[in-house]
Amino acid sequence: MITIRHLKKVYPNVTPLKDVNTEINKGDVISIIGPSGTGKSTLLRCLNRLEMPTAGEIIVDGENIVDPACNIFKVREKMGMVFQSFNLFSHLMIIENIMLGPVDLLKHSRQQAFDEGMNLLKMVGLADKAYAYPDELSGGQKQRVAIARTLAMQPEIILFDEPTSALDPTMVGEVLAVIRSLAEKGLTMLIVTHEMKFAADVSTRVFYMDEGVIYEDGTPEQIFQRPQREKTRAFIKHLKVLSYKITSRNFDFIKLNILIEEFGKKQLLSAQQIYDLQLCFEEVCMQNLLPALPEKFALTLSIEYSEAEGSIEMLFKYDGPRLEPFANGDELSMMLVRKKTKAIDFTYQEQQNYFSLKL
Ligand code: ADP
Repeated sequence: MITIRHLKKVYPNVTPLKDVNTEINKGDVISIIGPSGTGKSTLLRCLNRLEMPTAGEIIVDGENIVDPACNIFKVREKMGMVFQSFNLFSHLMIIENIMLGPVDLLKHSRQQAFDEGMNLLKMVGLADKAYAYPDELSGGQKQRVAIARTLAMQPEIILFDEPTSALDPTMVGEVLAVIRSLAEKGLTMLIVTHEMKFAADVSTRVFYMDEGVIYEDGTPEQIFQRPQREKTRAFIKHLKVLSYKITSRNFDFIKLNILIEEFGKKQLLSAQQIYDLQLCFEEVCMQNLLPALPEKFALTLSIEYSEAEGSIEMLFKYDGPRLEPFANGDELSMMLVRKKTKAIDFTYQEQQNYFSLKL
């Protein structure tokens, strides 16, 4: 339905979209997640041409909508957008707000627009508010009207730009319920959201955006249960991460110890926990791995602290042949590390060694 190729958007000071490539199929319900400022809104705004991309192609039903010759009003008819702020006309009644587009743009008769508008209001549970004015409605109700207004234009795809983030928490549920019912009807939707549980429940696909690209694309199970890439994992699990690359036996060991201490203090770890991390690093890396690794190596140490679970994981990742620490029995090191950890795990796949300690 939509093919995006090498999409790029440059602003004077930032480049939120560097190289976005994907295909969106009919019936896809795609949640777009990621840290703020990673171009999620910009992507939606390029799709319906509220922003002109700097480069790249967006092919919708065979037509490149980035082409300046393309009729953007036709594009916007196909792609309805629901914003964070509802943008209802305050001097018009709710039903009039909904009829406006179909009468003016789709040239429907007033009667037809009225009948369809009432049906849509029923669908979002607000038939009794048809003759009210926007100011008489709560935020959640206004957003449900805004969704009905978008549906009245019979779009092929609906873009939701953080539809619940301007709402009082008590009203989030009613809006998500409406979006969920649209997903069940098979509408094609792209939803920028911070509601992770909702994204996991309703989506057929999830895009994790970071670094100006769709950094990871997968089913909700893949992204939320088994994310492949570290940034995705950190985002999903709210992890605080210290990452350090070591490529030489002469690396700055003192500096790394200070970094571990600073990281620990920032996460409010106890002095004992910080000491345990330093000790595990010393025993695993200095005593075991460095002497055994080949001449040239690339080792990454990551320390991940999960605030939610209060757990700490220390992960050593290094390429080259299989090399399991302690496999050749350094009894003293192994005993010290065992004493400090709840679980130890080693895996070797695709020329990569992973050795993890849970503290
Ligand atoms: P997200 O939706 O992921 O939070 P946005 O797409 O809103 O991110 O913004 C991405 C980056 O582009 C941000 O750094 C933002 O400040 C910048 N940006 C967005 N719109 C404009 C604009 N009209 N002019 C300049 N910079 C912008």
